[in-house]
Amino acid sequence: MSAIAQLNDVAVKSMLTKTHKLLINNQWVESASGETFEVYDPSTGTVMANAAAGNEQDVNKAVKAARKAFESGHWSEMTPSDRGKILWKLADLLEENLEEFATLESLDNGKPLTIARAADVPLAVDLFRYMAGWATKIEGKTIPISVPYTPGAKYLAYTVREPVGVVAQIIPWNFPLLMAAWKLGPALAAGNTVILKPAEQTPMSALRLGDLVLEAGFPEGVVNIITGFGEDTGAPLAAHPDVDKVAFTGSTEVGKMIVKAAAGNLKKVTLELGGKSPNVVFKDADLETAIPNAASAIFFNHGQCCCAGSRLYVEQEIFDKVVAGVAEHAGNIKLGCGLDPDTDMGPLVSEEQFSRVTGFIDSGQTEGAKVATGGKRHGGEGYFVEPTVLVDTNPNMKVVREEIFGPVVTAMPFKDPEEIIPIANNTNYGLAAGVWTQDIGKAHRLASHIKAGTVWINCYNIFDAALPFGGYKESGWGREMGGDILEAYTQVKSVCVQV
Ligand code: ADP
Repeated sequence: MSAIAQLNDVAVKSMLTKTHKLLINNQWVESASGETFEVYDPSTGTVMANAAAGNEQDVNKAVKAARKAFESGHWSEMTPSDRGKILWKLADLLEENLEEFATLESLDNGKPLTIARAADVPLAVDLFRYMAGWATKIEGKTIPISVPYTPGAKYLAYTVREPVGVVAQIIPWNFPLLMAAWKLGPALAAGNTVILKPAEQTPMSALRLGDLVLEAGFPEGVVNIITGFGEDTGAPLAAHPDVDKVAFTGSTEVGKMIVKAAAGNLKKVTLELGGKSPNVVFKDADLETAIPNAASAIFFNHGQCCCAGSRLYVEQEIFDKVVAGVAEHAGNIKLGCGLDPDTDMGPLVSEEQFSRVTGFIDSGQTEGAKVATGGKRHGGEGYFVEPTVLVDTNPNMKVVREEIFGPVVTAMPFKDPEEIIPIANNTNYGLAAGVWTQDIGKAHRLASHIKAGTVWINCYNIFDAALPFGGYKESGWGREMGGDILEAYTQVKSVCVQV
């Protein structure tokens, strides 16, 4: 019997049986076309739910609702304290329904329930609480000015930070709920109104979050949720003349399309895109920690992390030992349905992703790389790929240059600690990096020279609502989380008064 058939969570079952609608102006409505699309269980490849397929008409309706809500001031001019309370309430409701959200996330994305329960949902709760706190702390400055051409005149000059307005937020499928939280939290704390577009592969948790948005008491039109395909809903949102800002997380390829689409009205753009992150292990590292963490840096979330440590560089003398250790960890990872409590790694999210990742493994081998472990499909159904370690690679291979977004790491030796900086930076991306050493000076030297938005030293994949995250180079524009993100959702107005 399939895991879904065995489910006894009534709330989750009801999410799977109903045909989902769009949330526009605090109402659940059918798509303008009446069309729906199928949502798949990636562990079996079978249809598990249906969601409304939005199109440009739905986008227009949602933007209109968000614009009306913004201009009414019901949200942007609500006291910051009250805005914060509603965001905090959303966090409380999410926490009360943690198990349901974790189950939905596991079913929809394929990730282990244990991970969704321990990481995805609690991090989303924490993000909303963190941003609820920011609602009352978005401040301007008073600025002493001199104005040489008005001698003797006195001025009071100050800045205020105002919300940007109507914000479109387009998110991916790897952390569906958490990405929704990263986007909604700061935008709403700052007083913007939002149209959120979840990925077509994983709309379930965002749709359920829509129910909680209504329960938490957001005014009409402040949060709108439009499901549908990228070209039908994402593209018209990015191009819409009445959208003031677009915030996107996804592939670098689509990120570049968003930039072009945004040019029409020069809407503000923030992008959190792909990565090909170096993870550097020096011979003086504590290998008992470095080896399992080098494995989880790539295999966590099945490698479907934009910051995955996908290029593993190991100092020559310990290369064989580290590769053998990472391969051993990979071999011990239990693949299975996300709902199975014994599962360490679930399926990839979709057939498309499965073909992409296995295509990369094939291309690596064609170009001369060797498989140290893994490299094959797992099981007869669903989109499972074995955790894979590739060796004998060179910097020109596709598997070393391009983002695979799957459980595939290329392991490469290096000789001289000084040569590793240009090697680590030899990529168009710049999202994250890992450094493993007990030499504190070396660690900080690397941290300062690696061109990436996050450098983890003797740890990896450490996230916190307070810690900014985002990319150098083609990994994006702007940062998510932390106080820095508020800059992306506000604009500065200078006010100058002659006194
Ligand atoms: P992936 O290739 O990993 O699926 P994408 O970058 O294609 O990642 O998708 C991330 C998000 O971008 C999804 O919500 C998707 O629907 C959306 N999207 C895809 N194409 C476009 C587009 N042309 N314009 C706007 N959004 C898009």
